[in-house]
Amino acid sequence: MSEETKPKDHFIRDIVEADRAAGKNGGRVATRFPPEPNGYIHIGHVKSLGINFGLAADYGGTCNLRFDDTNPEKEEIEYVSSIKEDIRWLGFDWQDREYYASDYYEKLFGFAEDLIRKGQAYVCDLSAEQVTATRGTLTKPGQASPFRGRSVEENLDLFRRMRAGDFPDGSKSLRAKIDMADPNLLLRDPVMYRIRRVHHYRQGDAWCIYPTYDWAHGQCDSIEGITHSICTLEFEVHRPLYDWFLDRLGIHHPRQIEFARLYLSHTLLSKRKLLALVNEGVVEGWDDPRMPTVAAMRRRGYPPAALRRFAELVGVAKVNSIVELAFLESCVREELNRTAPRAMAVLRPLKVVLTNYPEGQFEELDCVNNPENPAAGARKVPFGRELYIEREDFLEDPPKKFFRLSPGREVRLRYAYFITCTDVVKDPATGEITEIHCTYDPATRGGDAPDHRSPKATLHWVSAAHAVPAEVRLYDTLFTKRDPSELEEGEDWKVNLNPKSLEIVPGALLEPSLREAEPESRFQFERQGYFTADRRLSRPGRPVFNRTVTLRDSWARIVKSGKADA
Ligand code: ATP
Ligand code: MG
Repeated sequence: MSEETKPKDHFIRDIVEADRAAGKNGGRVATRFPPEPNGYIHIGHVKSLGINFGLAADYGGTCNLRFDDTNPEKEEIEYVSSIKEDIRWLGFDWQDREYYASDYYEKLFGFAEDLIRKGQAYVCDLSAEQVTATRGTLTKPGQASPFRGRSVEENLDLFRRMRAGDFPDGSKSLRAKIDMADPNLLLRDPVMYRIRRVHHYRQGDAWCIYPTYDWAHGQCDSIEGITHSICTLEFEVHRPLYDWFLDRLGIHHPRQIEFARLYLSHTLLSKRKLLALVNEGVVEGWDDPRMPTVAAMRRRGYPPAALRRFAELVGVAKVNSIVELAFLESCVREELNRTAPRAMAVLRPLKVVLTNYPEGQFEELDCVNNPENPAAGARKVPFGRELYIEREDFLEDPPKKFFRLSPGREVRLRYAYFITCTDVVKDPATGEITEIHCTYDPATRGGDAPDHRSPKATLHWVSAAHAVPAEVRLYDTLFTKRDPSELEEGEDWKVNLNPKSLEIVPGALLEPSLREAEPESRFQFERQGYFTADRRLSRPGRPVFNRTVTLRDSWARIVKSGKADA
């Protein structure tokens, strides 16, 4: 991915521009982001946020935040708070336009009475099962409800009594009177209200009838003066109903436009499944760094700018496809490469003693903070006789292509000196290597030799006397399959969970500048990847780091192989 990659123009922008050229809505652009507060928002929602807030910004319009809270069983105030916090963190601003579908219940009730008065809605006494059973099929028309012919007066009276609590749950519904033979099943007298005595997190017990999504959504859009109501592809078949209600009511009529949902490889985005992972303790919570939620990506260390850029670059299409997780990671890497200071951390330490370095002597070496950003400057890192290097950077019996440290071999310590391995010390009982002895070449201070010889490997290190112990958490994908929703006959979706998605490394050692790392601060640990101090677990003095992303750009490899389509 290059810096110059431009956000693609997309068909929704074309529609908005055509509408403005035609003078629709006086050229105004008003969108909304309508989350249901039944879970945390995830990377798919970032795409929707990007489109809705993006269009508003591009055309000097507005984007409302509207909680689509018409389904009281699953909605909670915790989700409202998290959604607001996450959207703000992403950098989208709804200003004072925070709305709730539930705040429009009274207006929606009034609209329903209007439809009844116009003879276009009726109270039906069939049970939910009977309504379904009489709807017909794609090849067979439905049967008219025996209650379809009720008078306007009777319908108004019954509907008001439904609201007043005169009837038991499920015993009646309000249905639109459309066409029981319409080829679109959603137009076969769809239900607008059901009786459900359920506590609403916001309305309490004020209501015992609740509107359906189809009835609520368009009317809420209309009340807010939305011009373009952007939703995902599965609502395409609902559009005739969206239009029918608004046309019959004769109120402001926003235009519904559908786009393809975002799917991400190795990831599931269904809130129902994410909730199951949380409830069953498969993950630590909605913000477990392995989750695809915004809160989790924040904790993992993904910068908000990288998420916004990803949403822009994946584009807007009419056809569903799976975007590679590697592409999201490359957006994260690109942002962090520019912005994250470098540091040294040894994840699995092996002790090194420099036998020709004076005991008790220390010095400070200059280390560049970010080679990509000269303004980031340099820092001093202490160096002494005893150091730690990465255990995997030493092999006693190296194979041909191993160029790191081994007996007799010289390597460079980053920003420090060249060292040569002279001895290997082992635990006599287990045979395990406990430390290695090396000599250093004092003429190579800073990492350059006067004779210009250049070792094949450069290793990172920390001074043993100054090292800060830390816990480091390494992550792999939560699911093993590229498309975890693909299942064999009879398989549960959890079979595709990756048992190795989290590895806790308890004994990592960090350079001392990381001791006071603020929660959420991001670094590149040289040769190990980008790491972020965990916002829940890390404390200055007691750091806990999440690996945000490795340094390996697997996206570049996918692009090279010609398999990229994002
Ligand atoms: P789920 O079906 O998992 O519950 P949802 O689509 O019902 O998710 P909402 O809270 O209703 O979630 O979504 C709010 C907005 O975000 C909607 O406009 C929805 O279309 C959009 N959205 C949700 N998931 C995605 C996705 N994967 N890609 C793009 N937009 C999405
Ligand atoms: Mg929804």
